[in-house]
Amino acid sequence: MNRQKPLVTAIFTGGTIAMKPDAGSGGVVPKLSAAEILNSVPDLENIARVETVEFGRYPSPHITPEIMLQLSRLAQYHAERPEVAGIIVTHGTDTLEETAFFLDCTLKTSKPVVVVGAMRNSAEADWDGPRNLRDAVIIASRHEAQDYGTLICLSDVINAASEATKTDATDINTFASMNFGPVGRISNSSLFLYRKPVHRDHFDVKELPAFVPLFKCYAGMEGGLVKLCRENGAAGFVIEGFGAGNVPPPVFYDLVECVKQGLPVVLVSRCPVGRIEHTYAYEGAGKQLYEAGVIFADYMNGQKARIKLMCALGAGYGIEEIRRAFEWASLQENDKF
Ligand code: ASP
Repeated sequence: MNRQKPLVTAIFTGGTIAMKPDAGSGGVVPKLSAAEILNSVPDLENIARVETVEFGRYPSPHITPEIMLQLSRLAQYHAERPEVAGIIVTHGTDTLEETAFFLDCTLKTSKPVVVVGAMRNSAEADWDGPRNLRDAVIIASRHEAQDYGTLICLSDVINAASEATKTDATDINTFASMNFGPVGRISNSSLFLYRKPVHRDHFDVKELPAFVPLFKCYAGMEGGLVKLCRENGAAGFVIEGFGAGNVPPPVFYDLVECVKQGLPVVLVSRCPVGRIEHTYAYEGAGKQLYEAGVIFADYMNGQKARIKLMCALGAGYGIEEIRRAFEWASLQENDKF
């Protein structure tokens, strides 16, 4: 161990980066220990000292907001240790963007936090885990990566957790910020950071709200689904509307009812790129939704808007504070006039 190198805390949660074949189930499952994964990474001692924390061996579809909150508290604890330069979280890629964004929204630290995973398991010839983990250690150990919030790094590409989404079900270069592009790259083991995340939030989450469902609109979508969730205690709703933010009439009336009952309803687009607007005025269109009190989440995708809404509710925000948190870009634009 080289005492001159920065200390990085790596928290292992599972995912494909920790997977190998399992004879019993006939498929791959998270089985590798933190030490086994770390030992596969070449030349680490020349970059940083890495200490490991075994958080769990979850496939990421098993990750819940409660687990994210525990993870955030653990990461916060390590980030506050003066001797720690940065934090890494290993995670399955399926829900990685949600956990990474939850950390971005809840951690209070200027230290680098990097969430990393792999798209190939350890039995495959092109296992990308060691390379991605090595890149994450490079980022987490560097003071240049301070104040970027939580980052995601796979396949040399560094994205902001507040912007990136999983774009390809199987390709190793799967994370992209569809609206804004990467914040940086790792090239030949060197760190290049080009820009800061477009926008970041911080929420002091005390307690998670009851469930917040996410609905995706489809042609001919029936009414009643939103109502069912409302009657079963949903604390708020995120709806992926069509195009620039329009929903079928039966869904519109369900949403209006939620707003009337004081529940936050956040609208995003089901399109992978672009922002929502309130120009169309027909039944169920953006203008009607806006005038009814639906909150507009600008360019954000549905799964991120849901995390943000949960964090805002968890921090005790009321409807108007939630609106300001989501509509920050429109508010800035309106301030100019
Ligand atoms: N396919 C996933 C992964 O890449 C499995 C998971 O998310 O745990 O890690």
